[in-house]
Amino acid sequence: MAILSRSDSMCNFQKTEAADIYQNLIHQPDVLPAGLNLNLEELSKVAKRLPMRLNTYFLSLIQSADDPLAKQVIPDIIELTDCRGPDDPLKEQAQSPVPGLIHRYPARVAFTVSNQCAVHCRFCLRKRNVFDGKQVSDKELELAIAYIRNHPQINEVILTGGDPLMLPDARIKQLLLQLRSIKHVLVLRIHTRIPSVFPERITKSLAHMLAKFHPLYLNIHFNHPNEITPAAENACRLLAEAGIALGSQTVLLKGINDQEQVLCKLFEKLLQIRVKPYYLHQLDRVRATAHFQVSMEKALSLITYLRGRLSGMAIPQLMVDLPAGGGKVAVSPESVVEKQPGRWVFRNWQGKLFSYP
Ligand SMILES: *Cc1c(COP(=O)(O)O)cnc(C)c1O
Ligand code: SF4
Repeated sequence: MAILSRSDSMCNFQKTEAADIYQNLIHQPDVLPAGLNLNLEELSKVAKRLPMRLNTYFLSLIQSADDPLAKQVIPDIIELTDCRGPDDPLKEQAQSPVPGLIHRYPARVAFTVSNQCAVHCRFCLRKRNVFDGKQVSDKELELAIAYIRNHPQINEVILTGGDPLMLPDARIKQLLLQLRSIKHVLVLRIHTRIPSVFPERITKSLAHMLAKFHPLYLNIHFNHPNEITPAAENACRLLAEAGIALGSQTVLLKGINDQEQVLCKLFEKLLQIRVKPYYLHQLDRVRATAHFQVSMEKALSLITYLRGRLSGMAIPQLMVDLPAGGGKVAVSPESVVEKQPGRWVFRNWQGKLFSYP
């Protein structure tokens, strides 16, 4: 469609804005501060196979090598020896009717519009697309939009990636215009990590542009309370003030956020900056991420701890994405202790038993 072919003015715009986004990226381990005491030789070995990426903003938040933010983006030598797990544990490729679309549920579809991110999370599910830095082509986008157009059962489109907000504003607007021109697409959603890793990218004009496409929801990837800086708060404020409903997604990560107090603080703070905690994800079992894996028992006990201590508004659902494309299931602590006709016994947040009715 004509909308995807770029006008001259847009090309210029794309260049300048893309420059801002890509300018601050760091890929070479040897430019990391000496104060972090990193083993550069090891780091480089890993980064050659599984490229490192962070930016000057995220680096500025990192205090030491075992900082919870550092562990998310700085390669670990263990990644090279951990060969367990597939590249695509959720069988996304098998559920992809055209490149870039994952059509797992009848009425909603995940649409990969960018393979780029501001940082490379070492635990990323989509490393296979993201870490090689390949751009999504115009042709792919066109084919994906044609598929959505031809499938009237799709009424929600989730822009994902990579990170959709790594695209220039004008490109995002084109995509949203095209999707909005499809009558059966009722709800739009964007999944992004930009507000937590590159908050300056969120401008008033971007927020106002997005707000023209309501109903549009934005889910932000936040893993640790230290990511909620004044700059990140400001990014969320711009989006919320433009009228965009914000949610969060958190990946449960060993040694990073698998502690009661860390999660409490994260979800409390998110609610305070008008971001509703949506999902807490059990890590998908993608290769070279076993060192981040938290047991199901631990995950459940963390959720149990939050219940009763935090506002219900601040508690996300614990989700497991089933292997082989089975989809997501919500996991909740066993609240039903006994089921008898007309009488169920429940355990409350304090562990006390109550029968109902
Ligand atoms: C996670 C996911 C969705 C969205 O699921 P929600 O539960 O609606 O947030 C849609 N499609 C795919 C392929 C997904 O992995
Ligand atoms: S922001 Fe998301 S898609 Fe990008 S590297 Fe991190 S986990 Fe992967």
